[in-house]
Amino acid sequence: MAVFIDSSDRLLQDQAQSLALTCPHCLVFAHITALAVPRFAELSVHRPRQIGLVYRCDSCNSPIFLRFTVRDYGAQRIELSSQFTEIERPREKFSFNYLPETVETLFREALVCYSHGAFNAFCSMCRRTMQAVFDMLGESGKLRLFDQLTELRDMAQIDTASFASLKRVIFGSDADPGPGLPVLDDDQAGLLLEVMKDLLYQAYVRKGRLQQAMVVRRFFSEQGERDGSHSPDAAPSRPTEPQSPRAT
Ligand SMILES: [Zn+2]
Repeated sequence: MAVFIDSSDRLLQDQAQSLALTCPHCLVFAHITALAVPRFAELSVHRPRQIGLVYRCDSCNSPIFLRFTVRDYGAQRIELSSQFTEIERPREKFSFNYLPETVETLFREALVCYSHGAFNAFCSMCRRTMQAVFDMLGESGKLRLFDQLTELRDMAQIDTASFASLKRVIFGSDADPGPGLPVLDDDQAGLLLEVMKDLLYQAYVRKGRLQQAMVVRRFFSEQGERDGSHSPDAAPSRPTEPQSPRAT
């Protein structure tokens, strides 16, 4: 997994053929190709500890900036660490349409933290987001969401330790005695992210979409009545059983 820049300014990278990541621009997991490599002569003079390379996303052609740590400055080649840092990370997406403003503000910031790899800042913002949710939905809403988390555990086969940690982040409070928020690594933060999206979806998005669909359905139904086939004596508010708009 060695990476070198040789004295002819060529980048020699064992993993070049299989080098792929999620592009921050098109969000496709794509192969990337090196485009711009710092010059050997210049690096040898200044000997920076870290250097930047520019790649091209093979899917959308956008530039991808990666930072490498230099391991060794040799007479013929410069060795770089095989690990690199992505300067721009893909932004996490979520449909905020049906979220109350406070919840939206807090969860947007949570996603910014996640996208920047600040997983513990993300964790703290998840707790703040859920506290705002519970404030609005009350105790019954909180219990409903807890049932949902339990359901998620069974569906996604979340292990006991991870479930305990999720429960502590989402349902714990800053006033609780004992250890505060758990320290999360990227895998645990990824799990928390999926759980948060699902809980918020169930609490707001699903309901919002359903209500909107009902409004549209009622509109077509009432329009159908006005267009003729029903007598004015028909019940003004029709039950909302499944019924497709008439084709004629
Ligand atoms: Zn791309």
